[in-house]
Amino acid sequence: MFDKILIANRGEIALRILRACKELGIASVAVHSTADADAMHVRLADESVCIGPPPSKDSYLNIPALLAACEITGADAVHPGYGFLSENARFAEILADHNLHFIGPKAEHIRLMGDKIEAKKTAKRLGIPVVPGSDGAVGVGDEAMAIAQQIGFPVLVKAAAGGGGRGMKVAQTAQDLALALSTAANEARSAFGDASVYLEKYLQKPRHIEIQVLGDGRGGAIHLGERDCSLQRRHQKVWEEGPSPALDAAARAKIGATVAKAMQEMKYLGVGTVEFLYEDGEFYFIEMNTRIQVEHPVTEMITGIDLVLEQIRIAAGGDLPATQDEVMINGHAIECRVNAENPVTFRPSPGKILQYHPPGGLGVRIDSAVYQGYVIPPYYDSLVGKLIVHGKTRTECLMRLRRALDEMVVDGIETTLPLFRALVRETDIIDGDYHIHWLEQYLAGQSAS
Ligand code: ADP
Repeated sequence: MFDKILIANRGEIALRILRACKELGIASVAVHSTADADAMHVRLADESVCIGPPPSKDSYLNIPALLAACEITGADAVHPGYGFLSENARFAEILADHNLHFIGPKAEHIRLMGDKIEAKKTAKRLGIPVVPGSDGAVGVGDEAMAIAQQIGFPVLVKAAAGGGGRGMKVAQTAQDLALALSTAANEARSAFGDASVYLEKYLQKPRHIEIQVLGDGRGGAIHLGERDCSLQRRHQKVWEEGPSPALDAAARAKIGATVAKAMQEMKYLGVGTVEFLYEDGEFYFIEMNTRIQVEHPVTEMITGIDLVLEQIRIAAGGDLPATQDEVMINGHAIECRVNAENPVTFRPSPGKILQYHPPGGLGVRIDSAVYQGYVIPPYYDSLVGKLIVHGKTRTECLMRLRRALDEMVVDGIETTLPLFRALVRETDIIDGDYHIHWLEQYLAGQSAS
């Protein structure tokens, strides 16, 4: 096992990793920018190192500063969390070159899945169903039009290096294709330094369903069921739940087995998420995330498996925590991502939290690093915290979520809590009857009325 883990992240996920380290009896090192000197992860870690000024590129993405922090503190492993350097294959390799463990998958798998075109080819080869589309990158010329016509409009232009919904443009008709191609390519070039784009059939009303996997890197791999993340705004997840209201046990077992088998064949190491769109009973692979995800607590609540703790154990050479047969899905869990944003315009609302009361009681969990008097800095994402609620059934879970949302207090800044309080009372949400465009349509209706 590792002696000391450096947590190369901030906010709630840094705290989440810290909790796993404490339970495992592993010493922890927090790193922080000057803007985060008062952050909770810094206060609670055994040691902390300031690694630079507020902009992420000078601190949380600053590899030489992180290496120096490992050297100074004697850390032997690095947990990257999500975002920042978590899907940077080069970072994993540099750590290895310095005899430091990267708590994550093999660099080759991070690189493979980071290129969405290669990822799709790999998925196809491993027997995972994919969205119909171009076989590889497409140019702006006639070739793209021919492929688009073959797929059928509407088509989606996506960036090979994509992430966070950037570099994605819909072409409703042939007339829109040229503009969609050039806008997506330009966006991809400036966001990722790689302008290659590919085409996919644009699905009309799919759900976003993702399968959580865990691999030992030696050919053992299991799946831990699915999360339904269809409630999105600008391709960003807002509300996640598991199990999906749209799947039955047979469909779950079938897609889960397909994914687990693929991970066994790849000899995948650590936690990962295979993302699908699901429409008319069919699954279509869109991408794989080779890291812990924001919404991982949903799976923890329904399986009882601590994903971050297992991630650390497995990175240190440990075995999988359970066989596939031993994995049980118990009850239902929902996560709401509460952001420091205006609930109508979604304008970021950084600032000082004057009053803070996290809800509690049976089945209620808050993953957050904020506290009363904490100032949310303007430099990073706007997540205040995640409210995760578990119940024996989806109905019980919704009932509990309603009262937990009503109980929660975050004053001094604007948050998206009012949006969730409204959503949990919407008939379609209560019925589990929604798809990836539902939330945008709902928000458009709200602002019109
Ligand atoms: P990113 O890596 O930028 O998050 P993804 O490939 O994961 O991109 O897609 C993000 C979201 O975009 C999906 O959850 C879905 O809402 C939408 N999306 C992606 N591909 C398609 C498609 N072929 N048809 C319709 N919507 C899609």
